[in-house]
Amino acid sequence: MNDSQNSSAGIYLHFPFCESKCPYCDFYSMPIEDKEPTEYIDAVISEAGRAADTVYGSFIYDTIYVGGGTPSLLNADEVKRILENLHADFNIEKDAEITIECNPSSLTEEKIHEYLKIGINRISLGVQSFCEAHLKTLGRLHTPEKAIETYHIMRDCGFKNVSLDLIYGIPYQTNAEWRFDLKTIIDLAPEHISAYNLVIESGTEFGRLYNQNRLSLPSDDEQLRMYDSLNEHLKNAGYRRYEISNFSKPGFECRHNLKYWTGKPYLGLGPSAVSYNGKTRRKNSADIEAYLRRAREGTEFPFETEIIDRETALRESIMSGLRLTKGVSLANLKDRFGYDLREDKRDTINSLLSERMITIEDEFLKLTDKSLFISDSIMVKLI
Ligand code: SF4
Repeated sequence: MNDSQNSSAGIYLHFPFCESKCPYCDFYSMPIEDKEPTEYIDAVISEAGRAADTVYGSFIYDTIYVGGGTPSLLNADEVKRILENLHADFNIEKDAEITIECNPSSLTEEKIHEYLKIGINRISLGVQSFCEAHLKTLGRLHTPEKAIETYHIMRDCGFKNVSLDLIYGIPYQTNAEWRFDLKTIIDLAPEHISAYNLVIESGTEFGRLYNQNRLSLPSDDEQLRMYDSLNEHLKNAGYRRYEISNFSKPGFECRHNLKYWTGKPYLGLGPSAVSYNGKTRRKNSADIEAYLRRAREGTEFPFETEIIDRETALRESIMSGLRLTKGVSLANLKDRFGYDLREDKRDTINSLLSERMITIEDEFLKLTDKSLFISDSIMVKLI
C-alpha cells in the first residue's frame, strides 16, 4: 500500500448540464433543455456501485464535491438520492466536507434549506462578477442583485461555509470595476473566495472570437494591476491565499480541491470525471450518450487509463506543490523519489532566487506573489 492509499480520499461527481453554455467555458457541459436528470442519476449510482467493488471501495472518504456543469439544477431529492447511495457504497466520514456548486440563477431558497438538511455543508456559488454588463458578456443568467440575495439566503438558512467565485480579465473590464467586485465580495465576507484570471480556451465561443480579433481583453498591464488589486484587497481583509486562485479565512481551505494538489486519491463519477488511486489515473469519456447507454446496458463506462510512472508522479508533485503557496517540499521529493531538485536545477533555482521569482524557506521551494501570476512559465523551468 502506498502513501495515497493510507490517506483519506475524495469523491467528485460531475453533473454535465447547465441552463445554457457560457462562451468562455471549456468544461464538459451542455444545455439541459428539457432533459430530465433521472437517467443521469441512475447512471451515476450505477457507476458508483461498480467503483465500490474496486480499490476505490477500500478508501475512507472525507470529501464529496458535486460539481459540473450546474448541479443546482438538481432538486434536493435528487441530490439526496445520490448522496444516500454514496453513503451506502463507500466509507464516508461523519464530518466529511460535502460541497455543491451552484449558480444564483437556479438556486432557490427551498433548495438551500433542503441541501442543508441532506448533509451538504459547503456551497460554492458562481458569482463571477458584480457588474451586470460583465455578467452578460460572460453569458451568465443572473444579476448582481440576485447573487447577493442568494448569498444572504444561504447565510439565513445556516450555511457556515460558503465559497464565492469571481473572474477577472473579462473583456472590457477595468481595474476600477474589478476593485469594486473585490470590495463587494469582502463586504459579503464568505469563508472562501476563488478568483480566476479569465483564460481564453480554444474550442469555446471566446476562443473563436479571439482568433478573429473580435474579443477586446484588458491589456497585460491592466491584468497585472488587477492581480495586484486582488492580492492587496484580500490580504488586507484577512484572506490567506493557499493556491494560485484560491483564498480563504483560516481553516476554510477547500479540503476536496487540496486533494488534487497534494496527490491524494479521488474517485470521479460522471462523464469526463477523472479518478486517481495513487497508481493510475482513469478518465471517463466526455460522452453523455455513451455514458447513459452503457448504464442501460449494464456494461462498463468508456474510459482511458494512464499509469502514473515515477517520472510523471515526480513532475506532477513539483507542479502541484508550486501551485500551493506552501510550496513544494524538497525533503518530500528526496524521500519519495530520491530526487534532489535543488541540485538538479541548481543554476535555474539560483537565477530565479536572484530575480525574486521563488523563495526557499524551511526546505519548501515556493513561488512569490510576483511569479504566481506567471506560474506556468516558472513551472516549466523547474520540471
Ligand atoms: S454555468 Fe459553469 S459549467 Fe455551465 S457553461 Fe457556464 S461556466 Fe460552464
